[in-house]
Amino acid sequence: MRVGVLSLQGAFREHLGVLGSLGVDACKVTRPKHLDGIDSIILPGGESSAMVRIAATTGLFPALGERIGAGLPVFGTCAGLILLADRLTDESLDGFDRLGGLDVTVARNAYGRQRDSFSAPVQVTGLDSEFDATFIRAPRIVDLGARVEVLASFAELPVLVRQGNIWGGSFHPELGADTRIHEEFLHSLGAAV
Ligand code: GLN
Repeated sequence: MRVGVLSLQGAFREHLGVLGSLGVDACKVTRPKHLDGIDSIILPGGESSAMVRIAATTGLFPALGERIGAGLPVFGTCAGLILLADRLTDESLDGFDRLGGLDVTVARNAYGRQRDSFSAPVQVTGLDSEFDATFIRAPRIVDLGARVEVLASFAELPVLVRQGNIWGGSFHPELGADTRIHEEFLHSLGAAV
């Protein structure tokens, strides 16, 4: 199993570090040709408006969106969730290619500004104790379709969701030493980690 990590901007190194610590073969994805040979992909947090601008010159997002539509498993965290959301509440990314595929509506920056960043324990389906989730200018999932399963909530709102092989989270699961959410995603794909 080879896992790609979208590496245009943001916290891609941290995801690569987690995958490396789990002994998973991981590679950076910045261009369409890097999609060849990957079996799943992680979209990191960072700044979605920067990511869509960087990707606009390469055709990466149309190619990746097609792979996701054809079943490529994907886990989008924070800005990555924004890329995957079928709907955004604001127009700031209109006119740029995103990915879509996850039947949710997302409000960007709805958990506050950088200085409002916080961590909170959340109960995640499948984990036997709470996960310390870090929220940084995090997107809020304000609506979800019937096919979307909620794996974790915070303050009665979903913060980790799954629609088949498409996973999305508001927080940063790659910060800190707790690798259990990555493991859950990889286990769901049949990886032995
Ligand atoms: N606010 C950022 C955005 O809109 C996401 C923040 C994050 O990924 N930590 O892209």
